[in-house]
Amino acid sequence: MSDFKINTKCVQAGYRPGNGEPRQIPIIQSTTFKYDTSEDMGKLFDLEASGYFYTRLQNPTNDYVAAKLAELEGGTAAMLTSSGQAANFFAMFNICENGGHIVASSSIYGGTFNLIDVTMRKMGIDVTFVSPDATEDELNAAFKDNTKLVFGETIANPALTVLDIEKFAKAAHAHGVPLIIDNTFPTPINCRPIEWGADIVTHSTTKYLDGHGATVGGAIIDSGKFDWMAHADKFPGLTTPDESYHGITYAEKFGKEGAFITKATAQLMRDFGCIQSPQHAFILNLGIESLHVRMARHVENGQAVAEFLEKHPKITKVNYSGLKSDKYYEIAQKYLPNGGCGVVSFEIEGGRAAAEKFMKALKIAAIETHVADARTCCLNPATSTHRQMTDEQLEAAGIPAGLVRMSCGLEDKEDLIADLEQALATV
Ligand SMILES: *Cc1c(COP(=O)(O)O)cnc(C)c1O
Repeated sequence: MSDFKINTKCVQAGYRPGNGEPRQIPIIQSTTFKYDTSEDMGKLFDLEASGYFYTRLQNPTNDYVAAKLAELEGGTAAMLTSSGQAANFFAMFNICENGGHIVASSSIYGGTFNLIDVTMRKMGIDVTFVSPDATEDELNAAFKDNTKLVFGETIANPALTVLDIEKFAKAAHAHGVPLIIDNTFPTPINCRPIEWGADIVTHSTTKYLDGHGATVGGAIIDSGKFDWMAHADKFPGLTTPDESYHGITYAEKFGKEGAFITKATAQLMRDFGCIQSPQHAFILNLGIESLHVRMARHVENGQAVAEFLEKHPKITKVNYSGLKSDKYYEIAQKYLPNGGCGVVSFEIEGGRAAAEKFMKALKIAAIETHVADARTCCLNPATSTHRQMTDEQLEAAGIPAGLVRMSCGLEDKEDLIADLEQALATV
């Protein structure tokens, strides 16, 4: 499908049925697969032949959806995981083990920040966080001899900073390591990080890719561009024999195009088992079939809501990279020419009390710790996820008490704005 436009790929890539086969992706609801001889199955275990033997490692339904995501992002191989957290963990741990070091943008999803800063540190992995706005010199200064990768988010959740992917890729490559980009918020419809130099792309498919708040899931896509053998000393897991897998050297046997995903499947999925269920993969695919239609509406609604809020006297600040006044407007014009996503954040005059009253008065937007689905939802961190913090601590963390994050869904924008207007009138 590589000659087709991305809208066509959303609908048709991945699964291409033959004559008389089901039009929709079959859900292969089976843990295991049958063979006539042990020899046949042995070839699969030795990675000598490709095929299925146990769903924890691979399942055809998941592979169809992963193949679609690889086409959408412009990669050579992909895998689904049980969650976005599992995707980011696998993507990093696949090449960074005990004794390694990560350079990561400080403006990333809270769960990923904890994963790197707490849990991966416990595994003996060191990290240096850098500002998403770091200069080239500041970036270069963050690398160490044992640095294995650079990590960032295209549009950060919840800070809504936009990453200069080319700058981060250049620094990573100058130090012989790959750039991993979590592309959850823009999705491949609005940004394809591989086109800007990223080597590995991850997703929480729980968000826009599913798009209906129905399934938790994740995905990893490999660009197939990073030359592991050229930096063999840094990545022994890919460039020396894996004794736990019959002495296979992944980068030799599967090349640049396949080594990363094959290793993550053969080792990490085998040992950690964070597989997505085929049922979830099927639902995820239904979401992706309309992704290109939905993202345009999410952006239209986000832009309209941001523009309305910016003019409202009770709103002191709006963060949305589609606004000319936004700090990231210029960089978004480059990386997100068709818009970013439907998530907007803003500060209400009157702090946490005003935010609480405002949100209670909303009729369409529900209060949820979720983003990026068909229904508009919102959250005031000061009275929910960050309620243990004082106003001063919140200010220092860049999450003022009156900050509201709103994920604009697919409703009519005039209804959304009317809802905001009546709720702001109560404050
Ligand atoms: C939600 C989210 C995650 C975590 O994904 P889960 O599917 O909830 O595990 C990771 N990165 C970003 C940017 C997210 O928004």
